[in-house]
Amino acid sequence: MPRALVTGITGQDGLYLGELLVAKGYDVYGVVRGQNNPKVRTVERLIPSVELLEGDLTDLPSLIGAIEIAQPDEIYNLGALSFVGLSWRQAELTADVTGMGVLRILEAIRIATQGDMSRIRFYQASSSEMFGKVRESPQTESTPFHPRSPYGAAKTFGHYITVNYRESYDAFACSGILFNHESPRRGHEFVTRKVTRGVARVALGLQETIALGNLESKRDWGFAGDYVHAMWQMLQQDEPEDYVVATGETHSISELLDIAFARIGVTDWTKHVEVDQRFVRPAEVDYLCGDATKAREKLDWTPKVSFTDLIEMMVDADLERERKLSENPEG
Ligand code: GDP
Repeated sequence: MPRALVTGITGQDGLYLGELLVAKGYDVYGVVRGQNNPKVRTVERLIPSVELLEGDLTDLPSLIGAIEIAQPDEIYNLGALSFVGLSWRQAELTADVTGMGVLRILEAIRIATQGDMSRIRFYQASSSEMFGKVRESPQTESTPFHPRSPYGAAKTFGHYITVNYRESYDAFACSGILFNHESPRRGHEFVTRKVTRGVARVALGLQETIALGNLESKRDWGFAGDYVHAMWQMLQQDEPEDYVVATGETHSISELLDIAFARIGVTDWTKHVEVDQRFVRPAEVDYLCGDATKAREKLDWTPKVSFTDLIEMMVDADLERERKLSENPEG
């Protein structure tokens, strides 16, 4: 059986990737940090066959230890402080976990393989936030970066250090430049989930309004369950390369609101949305739209879930969850 080690297993992508790898017959190991981490229970419930190992992206010896136990053929580095908004308030921690964490795991691979890095295939979760103030549209693998947040800057370091270890040590290291990807498992702090959860609560009479920041920005949003297939496919190629993964469509926050509110029969959502300066960012990424031609041609990867279907899926899941919670607040 092939063996995989996943950092960030408790996050949205970690859960989808863990399920995919288990279905493909892998022995899956997940790195979890902290003491009594409550997210561990979600992993145990959804993918019970995953073996959890203690480790932290800020602690090199723990990463070496996890690799020694798991003896993986593939490592997926999905662990990060991943919320752009928080990255200004905890910029140093973001640089340490999201940026330096990539260097540490690459060093852990180098040490654990005694320099023969190509023995372990490595996937780095890079981000469209690296494009930031975009230099061209749509964005491809060769579009220059201009990050607009501590998160984007940290991810840019992670991307370049991955490329550098590939070029320096012959590592089988791939960087997947994934555009925003969402699902019912997305954290509430991200705008799609904040909206779909808010809409569900408005429908159930649990809240009147949703407080948001900039409604004008545009994102290329896909379904996370589709995107983890591209991660796996990158590591099955003959050569390690970098790939943009995106839908090629872009939508504004206002369009997101249109679709989410339409699902509960509301056409004019203006009285349910208030703009709150607390959610406006010091520097904004106004527009992202990816060109995934390379992933389509080389990996045979295409997104399956449309933007409308994605948002409707999320509203429906939140309606069910909020209904259950309001009936039984103890969960
Ligand atoms: P990001 O692309 O990784 O920053 O994903 P987010 O879901 O956090 O934000 C996407 C876009 O939504 C950004 O342009 C935000 O400025 C915008 N946005 C507007 N209001 C909100 C809000 O209340 N929360 C979040 N998270 N984003 C918001």
